[in-house]
Amino acid sequence: MSHATRDTPIPATLIPGDGIGPEITDAVVQILAALGAPFAWDTQAGGMAAVDKSGDPLPAALLDSIRRTKLALKGPLTTPVGGGFRSVNVRLREAFQLYANLRPARTIVPGGRFDEIDLVLVRENLEGLYVGFEHYIPIAGDPRAAAVSSGVNTRAGSRRIAEFAFDYAVKHGRKKVTIVHKANVLKALTGIFLEAAYDVAKQYAGRIEVNDRIVDACAMQLVLNPWQFDVIVTTNLFGDILSDEIAGLVGGLGMAPGANIGEDASIFEAVHGSAPDIAGKGIANPLALLLAACMMLEHVGRPALAQRLRAAIDLTVRQDNVRTGDLGGKATTRELTAAILRRLDSSPA
Ligand code: NAD
Repeated sequence: MSHATRDTPIPATLIPGDGIGPEITDAVVQILAALGAPFAWDTQAGGMAAVDKSGDPLPAALLDSIRRTKLALKGPLTTPVGGGFRSVNVRLREAFQLYANLRPARTIVPGGRFDEIDLVLVRENLEGLYVGFEHYIPIAGDPRAAAVSSGVNTRAGSRRIAEFAFDYAVKHGRKKVTIVHKANVLKALTGIFLEAAYDVAKQYAGRIEVNDRIVDACAMQLVLNPWQFDVIVTTNLFGDILSDEIAGLVGGLGMAPGANIGEDASIFEAVHGSAPDIAGKGIANPLALLLAACMMLEHVGRPALAQRLRAAIDLTVRQDNVRTGDLGGKATTRELTAAILRRLDSSPA
């Protein structure tokens, strides 16, 4: 790629969001600018900020912007309770067919229960029990005597997420993919996923090792010996549960970034919410969103910038001991931002 191409600005939608969202997005945008990240931001309101303006937490202008840029960095959005609002995250997943949810977990703060964790969970985001095909069956005068839910996994959807996981493993120098399922009991629903994933694995033979685990055993192994895992690929509901478990291995949601990747767009975010209890106090930890920005840099083909930013984050937290309250420190958002900027300054590109 030529130098001129590398410097071309990359249009991207920025959604500051609600609660601590504007505070942490400000910090992240400032740090990305100092890093020389080539994003040209189109800032759009979403969540409560947008309800106040347009009556909809996911306004057309925001959707249009993502349709144009196909790339977004999203602060946490408060989903209004009541008023018939559907989850903004589910609407975004559907609108842009964001079929892959990517959740890396890497130890940054040393001395926790588990050190040196470095694994990635790839969750199918559109199928499984999450399709929400549910109904009640009335029996003997009780209108809700039984509840039925149908899950749907397709061979095409299972292959697509497996290909994503194996491609990710190759591109990121990973060694092994573990397929997580419950095919011993849910023989059709998760059997089709296991079968499709093993079929996809054949194309990567000799390059990426493959094995599989039943979900309950995987959950136990994650706390007994998490180091055995490298990339995990699984269905929607199992991924939902295991991704929070792996966030717990590295110190909780405050350090957990996530990406939702699809054919039509990719959206990067912190896993945590809008933290209304600390909003406006200037003490929010911007690192989860900053780590999401690192994933975004890799996604747009700027791995060297991502690596430089991760190194600055590691040094700030580990060597300089600058940490926000949720990590046991006393730093404000601004102090942590300034410390990362100093580290970037002292490690020029
Ligand atoms: P939360 O993640 O906002 O907060 C849980 C706890 O973690 C709080 O004590 C909070 O102060 C703390 N915390 C979270 N992020 C932090 C950070 N960066 N730095 C320091 N402390 C942090 O979860 P919640 O309170 O259940 O949800 C609040 C709102 O966020 C709800 O409206 C919910 O719908 C929304 N939410 C949005 C997303 C999203 O947009 N991706 C995800 C989860 C929740």
